[in-house]
Amino acid sequence: MDAVEALKEKMVLACKVLQNQGVVDVYGHVSARLPDERILSTPHMPPGKVALRDLIVLDMNGKKLEGFGEPNGETAMHTSIYKARPDVQCVLHYHPDEIVAVSIAGQGIKVVANCGVHFYRGTPIYDSPVLIRTDQLGHQVAATLGDRNAVLLRGHGGTVVANELDTLLRLGLDLVRTARIQIMAASLGPVKTHSQEECEQMVKFHDRPHANRRYVDYYISEVVD
Ligand SMILES: [Zn+2]
Repeated sequence: MDAVEALKEKMVLACKVLQNQGVVDVYGHVSARLPDERILSTPHMPPGKVALRDLIVLDMNGKKLEGFGEPNGETAMHTSIYKARPDVQCVLHYHPDEIVAVSIAGQGIKVVANCGVHFYRGTPIYDSPVLIRTDQLGHQVAATLGDRNAVLLRGHGGTVVANELDTLLRLGLDLVRTARIQIMAASLGPVKTHSQEECEQMVKFHDRPHANRRYVDYYISEVVD
């Protein structure tokens, strides 16, 4: 199997996991960078229902090059991030309730649990609920994201970036989980957050080779027979 076919299979599985874990629904999309200034993307359909034949290939301006489905309405966010961040290989955009709730409180993610340590460098908030349907809006979101791995969009959702799909899946699930714990803990009173040093130590541990294997294999085992 060539690298692109393997990437397609991985993307379909990642979407099934996101669906199975309840973090995508009717909406949301996943994309990945391909060689030669191209992008592999889920089309304008519920990501968890995407099969291999549904994936589409776009150019860096969001124009469709291959596939039957139409590009999703917020493609400009993906293309703008790829242009601004050569290190980013894949992008997830979704609208989980927990992330919307944190975004409207104007807090960003507080690192209150170990599943949040990847986000210790901050999760800036794009301060508008509009859908990111134009290049101008896409550039604004990419600028708000900066060099971080997640940006929250006020009253709308979140966008996560990574250098490979396994990490994207982990970050995508962990962002929702840590937001949920943050919301739960807030009802108990003041919270204690991880120190930067504690986060850095744990992130180093997560960055070792194959660190995501057990995590990703577990979630994939939940969606395959
Ligand atoms: Zn959206």
